Amino acid sequence: MTREIGTHLKTFTQNLGADIIGFCELPDELVNANLHYAVSLGVKLSDAILQTIESAPSFAYFQHYRAANALLDQIAFRVAREIEKAGYAAFPVAASQSLGKNDPYRGVIPHKTAAVLAGLGFVGKSGLFLSTEHGSKVRLATVLTNLPLQSELPVIENGCGDCTLCKNACPAGAIFGEKPLTNGERNFDPEKCSKYMKEKFQHIGRGSVCGVCIKVCPKNKLR
Ligand code: SF4
Ligand code: SF4
Repeated sequence: MTREIGTHLKTFTQNLGADIIGFCELPDELVNANLHYAVSLGVKLSDAILQTIESAPSFAYFQHYRAANALLDQIAFRVAREIEKAGYAAFPVAASQSLGKNDPYRGVIPHKTAAVLAGLGFVGKSGLFLSTEHGSKVRLATVLTNLPLQSELPVIENGCGDCTLCKNACPAGAIFGEKPLTNGERNFDPEKCSKYMKEKFQHIGRGSVCGVCIKVCPKNKLR
């Protein structure tokens, strides 16, 4: 039964516009509201839009980033409703989320951790999630649930090798250039990243990031 719902959710999610989808069981420290499983989903960003980023963010990227978040939020919302219709609980977690002023750089769950546990890719030295198919040209959302959906893919090791291009290119000095730490600490500084956008590029828009680390990553093979 669970397998059938999982197959249905995959098709349903892809028909709504998701490019990647996977399932995982969550470790105890990531369980919220007694929901032990997660649907991880992502949409690919436009290569042509990413090409507009040079050494700084662009208006086109800012607007595209927000559109991707809006699409993800809609998909997560509708996937959660579909899970509820099947008789289970579901909690859609928005693509861009924050726990508020006291902890502005954390959300209900790190989307990239759910995506890694679902076997969809790995976290790069940039601190970004790199999907197997699309590199870091993806935005993510998560649906927490008590529907017992298991991962169908093994967890993938970090594949950055000796590359440090994102660290070298980051204009905010926010990337440490290290592989993700096993204790769950971040390998980049989200405050430096966010402040760079807010302080230097208010005229483009707030609540976004500059995108240079995506543009330079050789795993992305921009077309
Ligand atoms: S979005 Fe820009 S400032 Fe933030 S980590 Fe990437 S390159 Fe650095
Ligand atoms: S630019 Fe290089 S080090 Fe950074 S995430 Fe991409 S492959 Fe990894």
